[in-house]
Parts: sequence; C-alpha cells; structure tokens
Amino acid sequence: MNGRKVRKGRKGRKVWCATMAPMALQRSSSSRPVETKVLPQEAVVDSALRPKTMTEYVGQSKVKGHLLMHLQAAKSRKEPLGHTLLHGPPGLGKTTLAHILAREMGAQIRITSGPALEKPGDLASILTNLQEGDVFFIDEIHRLRPIVEEMLYAAMEDFALDLVLGKGPTARSMRLRLKPFTLVGATTKAGAMSAPLRDRFLHQFKLDFYDLAEMQQIVERSAKLLAVAMDNQAAHRIARCSRATPRISNRLVRSVRDFAQVGGKGKVDLGSVEETLKALEIDGDGLDATDRRILEVIVDTFAGGPVGLSTIAAVLADEEETIEDVYEPYLLQQGYLQRTPKGRCATKRAYEKLGKAIPQGVSMGQGQAGLF
Ligand code: ADP
Repeated sequence: MNGRKVRKGRKGRKVWCATMAPMALQRSSSSRPVETKVLPQEAVVDSALRPKTMTEYVGQSKVKGHLLMHLQAAKSRKEPLGHTLLHGPPGLGKTTLAHILAREMGAQIRITSGPALEKPGDLASILTNLQEGDVFFIDEIHRLRPIVEEMLYAAMEDFALDLVLGKGPTARSMRLRLKPFTLVGATTKAGAMSAPLRDRFLHQFKLDFYDLAEMQQIVERSAKLLAVAMDNQAAHRIARCSRATPRISNRLVRSVRDFAQVGGKGKVDLGSVEETLKALEIDGDGLDATDRRILEVIVDTFAGGPVGLSTIAAVLADEEETIEDVYEPYLLQQGYLQRTPKGRCATKRAYEKLGKAIPQGVSMGQGQAGLF
C-alpha cells in the first residue's frame, strides 16, 4: 500500500484519496432469456418485485429459519448480525436476502461488487462512510482483488482500517476505527474464495434451486404485483420452465405479459405462455438454445465427453465463466451433465433430451431425476 496518495478528509482526518467505486452493480447488455445478470431496463421492475420481508421471501426455509434466529439474537443484544456469506447460482435471491436483512435490522444497505472495488482506497472510502449497524453488501465477492481483500480482513475482524501513510523510511502505519457493521457477501463460487476470507464470515448459507410449488408461488406473486391476469395453468407452465430460478421466472412473466398484450388477450393463458416459450426457444424442461447446444457439443462433437470447459466455451464462442456459472448449475442439477476430473460428460438424460441413441459400449451416468 506504500506510495498511495493521502489527503485530508472531512474533520481534517487523513483518508485515502479514493474515487468512490460505482455503487451500482455491473450490468450486462445481453438480453438472452437465461442471462442471469440484471439488465438495465429491468432494474426498476426488479426492485418492485423484490420481496421486502422474510414473510414475502418464498422458499429457502432452512436459510430463513437460521437467519431469523440469528437476527432475533443480534437484535436482543443490540449488536450487528455478524458477517454473512450467501452463495448459490445467480438469480436465486442473494441480493434480495441482503436487502431484507438490512430492513430487519433497521439499517441502511450499501451495495457494491468485487470487481468494482479496484483499489484499497475504493473500499476504504466506503468503509469509513458506514454508519453503526449498516449492512455492507459485496456481490461477486470471490472477484475481490487480493490487495482489497487484505484490507477487508481487519475491517471484518476488528472493525478497523490499517493504513500505511507515506513511503520508504518515513512510512508509518495508522489504525482507523470503523463503526461496527455487517458485511454480507454474495458469490456464485464459494470455492473460488480464499480460505482466510471465507473463514471470517460468521454465518454461511447456500441458496438452493426452488421446487415447483415455490416457483409457482413466485410466478403468481410477480403476476399479481405487475397486475397481470394469469390463470393457474399458465403460472404452472412458467414455473416449470424457469430453471428453478426466480429471476428467470420474473423475466418470463414480463415477456408473456407482452405477448398476451400484443396478441390482444386480456388474460395470460397457457396458449400465450406456449407462444412466448416458442419464440424464446425455451423447451418444456426450461432448457434454451444454448443449453441444448452445450449438450450437442458434448454428445455430437466429443462423443459424450469427457470434454474440458474451455473447449466447450471455444466451440460455442461463449465465455467459460458464463457457461460455468449460468448454464451448468441447472444442467448438473437436472442430471443432463456430469463433472468428472477429466471434463464434462453427457448423461443418459442428455442423450434422451437430444433424441439420440447411446453409443454401444459407452457407460455413463444415469442423471438424477431432476427437480421437476
Ligand atoms: P441473486 O442476487 O442471487 O442473483 P436476486 O436477489 O437479485 O438474485 O433475485 C432476483 C429476483 O428474483 C429478485 O428481484 C426477486 O424479485 C426475485 N426473487 C429472488 N428470490 C426470491 C424469493 N425467495 N421469493 C420471491 N422472489 C424472489
């Protein structure tokens, strides 16, 4: 940290000369159906649909139960909740849960993401502005730069900021006290986090894919909030085709609404859902064109695998990270794919999905029964 600029902050205190990291999360401009990042145009709708309380938050009952218990204990001690790590595939409700935690604690939430914190100064300027009890939410926390992560250790453990002022022989260190806060970290890859960072989280929870009944409840709730009249069959169909992920079901509800509106229908029925799914190339199991291409590459080009992730990405001209974080979790969960030390392999279910015969003499995983 030597050699960083220091300036006088408010009240004459020395602080790192930091440009405040953009507080909004990084957005993607892509608009494919399974894209699980928040698109700019849907940010507003997203926040309207976001559950505000634990009661509104559907499913994840184990996680909710634990959190409610910890919240109650922390509130009765008048202490912050304790740093909390939420991990699981994108779109399952990690950000939503962080907002709910802040609300339940009666605290403000400050939001940033791992890649947005480029320099220790970016982090320092946020930390020094936190008020007592605030929730500090870092999305994609596995993407923090090591130099920023190191600064976070003392902040998490001792609510302190260790700064080095000046350079060379005249350099001196200074410890700045921070107000007690709760760090909520979200990640799609807990395994990519360093052990020292992971171990500093008092509470760690994994969010799971939602079951069909929960997904139907989420679809019906979103339709109601968006004032979309939808029959039961239509809600059931959307729930089945949403990859067990609320962000995708919300997106489908909005697409279906548009199709029904343009088609002059006052109500969303099974027909308008089928029409929308066909246009978006989503099949009856919720797989889209890219999912099917991934399976085709493994089955057709690489004889069922094993094949490395980088090879699949190169053939599809897509990013490894997108395939690994966005597509694979659901394909694995549904039993279309298997991860082996040698690479990805297609299962019996993948061959069945593509309507292909399993080659003679090839032994392969059966695939799980799937969620639905
Ligand atoms: P993540 O941070 O895990 O990527 P988000 O918290 O941004 O996911 O969730 C995406 C959207 O899905 C939210 O805007 C919200 O409307 C919806 N959502 C997520 N979890 C739930 C839930 N448990 N119940 C109802 N809606 C949910």
